[in-house]
Amino acid sequence: MCIRVEYVPRARLAEPWDAGRNVIVLPDHLIEPFALRALRFLLDELDIEQDEFGALCWCGKPIELPRVP
Ligand SMILES: [Zn+2]
Repeated sequence: MCIRVEYVPRARLAEPWDAGRNVIVLPDHLIEPFALRALRFLLDELDIEQDEFGALCWCGKPIELPRVP
């Protein structure tokens, strides 16, 4: 199952990594490029090797950041 990204309001943010759902949770005030940096940092913490740009799932596919509504 591929890793997805979800934005939640900061007040509801508990753990950045929801292992049960394979979801990385970012606070919704984080906009690019900060969201991408945070995402890459968290992926690195999960020992998923990252390219120079973008963010990669553990299967090697790029992870898309959801649009902020
Ligand atoms: Zn994947």
